[in-house]
Amino acid sequence: MFDSDSTVPSFDAVVIGAGFAGLRAAVDLQRAGLHIALLEARDRVGGRSRPGMLAGRVVDTGGQWVGHGHAQLTRLAADAGAPLLSQERPGAKLLQIGDRLHRYSGLIPPASPVALIEMQILLWRLRLMQRQVPPDAPWTATRATQLDALTVADWQRRWLRSDGSRMLFDAAVRAVLCTEASNLSMLGFLHYLGSSGSFDALLAVRDGAQAQTVGGGMHALATHLAQQLMPGTLKLSTAVLALEQRSNDVRIRLDGDRCLQTRRVIVAMAPRMAGDIAMAPACAERSALAHGMPMGSVIKCVIAYARPFWRDAGLNGEFVGDRALLSPVFDASPADGSHGALVGFIDGTNARHWSKATPEARRAAVLASLVGAFGPQAAAPIDYLDHDWISDPWSRGCYVGVPTPGILSRHGPALAAPSGRIHWAGTETAGRWCGYIEGALLSGARAASEVRTALAQ
Ligand SMILES: Cc1cc2nc3c(=O)[nH]c(=O)nc-3n(C[C@H](O)[C@H](O)[C@H](O)COP(=O)(O)OP(=O)(O)OC[C@H]3O[C@@H](n4cnc5c(N)ncnc54)[C@H](O)[C@@H]3O)c2cc1C
Repeated sequence: MFDSDSTVPSFDAVVIGAGFAGLRAAVDLQRAGLHIALLEARDRVGGRSRPGMLAGRVVDTGGQWVGHGHAQLTRLAADAGAPLLSQERPGAKLLQIGDRLHRYSGLIPPASPVALIEMQILLWRLRLMQRQVPPDAPWTATRATQLDALTVADWQRRWLRSDGSRMLFDAAVRAVLCTEASNLSMLGFLHYLGSSGSFDALLAVRDGAQAQTVGGGMHALATHLAQQLMPGTLKLSTAVLALEQRSNDVRIRLDGDRCLQTRRVIVAMAPRMAGDIAMAPACAERSALAHGMPMGSVIKCVIAYARPFWRDAGLNGEFVGDRALLSPVFDASPADGSHGALVGFIDGTNARHWSKATPEARRAAVLASLVGAFGPQAAAPIDYLDHDWISDPWSRGCYVGVPTPGILSRHGPALAAPSGRIHWAGTETAGRWCGYIEGALLSGARAASEVRTALAQ
């Protein structure tokens, strides 16, 4: 497979990155009869979807939920024979403000009447504004430059007056994008919301982004896609170091000083990770995206208990807190009732701090946070698992690349537009469901279609 310097392309197309975007692209290209390879740096497929073992069963330490309207992913699950399970649980949710716990139901947690009215108006205002941002080309929005010059924190300060509503809003932004509102471009935020429906939908379980989980784990769907490839197509533990575009092909340099040639390439990963691949000729626009779209910061934690004890108190396991380390939290108990489980996130600045801690210290801090939310029984898990996505060398953070101010309006068109023989996929390039596995699948299908068209000419 690895020629040294042949002038004949070895492949019609090479896909780099075996996350959902790269897997979708590779399967589509192979089905179209093309001679392809799929190269993956890790020793597994799935990228930002990752399996882990907790209390004897597979759990998701990366992408987990199938959102309402995620049609490609729903079809993939059906194709793989994997059941989709509702995330909804009966009972009340918890909000912690300072040391006080409040029970609530519905989307917006209880706050002062002023804060509630402010939040309702803010959500309405966001819905109006996101409609003015075209999902496939946010940089063409009227006022794109002005919106892109603002951070979400700047904008929030103009419209929210009460501490309660500011706290709720900032916690919600962190939960959705794993970054502080002060890092995030307002244009990027509106694009993210519009691409998936609305802020409300991204936060919600019922009819929202957390609607369903995959029985057997999300990662099984990545494995299912990989199994559709012809033997020998997928090369694991194969990191791409450099791409050199020549007149008739692209030369790909791999670790171990190996090379191969191909007529077209699909780079299927976040702009930040694509930026680590040396390009000749250089692609200035893509370098700007790599620097201007750093990854968010998140550590995902899954904690197993002998039984779902929070249900005794009429709670459904959902929790959000203004100062809690682990927030948000959801019930992740298996359907067979064999034990209880909670899943939660350390995000933003907290995640970067706890990424440097020892695993023991982090576990103790997570359990202390859960005790503050659910009481002393939370201190006695039967198993514990976390994954620090910040120190993961092939993601360097998650869930998604965060558009900082000034990036989308100036360099956004380079996200998905081919650079010569190089095509771009990955959830960050998707106009619909950007940031989600659904967006990754759509982007892979789009890039594969571009390559088929280009090779047919
Ligand atoms: C904790 C967490 C929770 C999440 N929750 C959800 C959720 O509930 N629902 C949802 O829909 N989404 C969720 N997401 C987001 C979702 O996982 C991603 O949107 C999706 O997996 C991105 O897929 P992708 O193919 O675009 O990129 P990736 O999955 O990042 O794939 C890129 C691949 O490229 C490889 N690679 C990188 N550099 C190189 C190189 N130089 N050479 C070769 N290979 C390389 C990487 O190893 C990786 O496998 C979550 C993510 C995380 C981390």
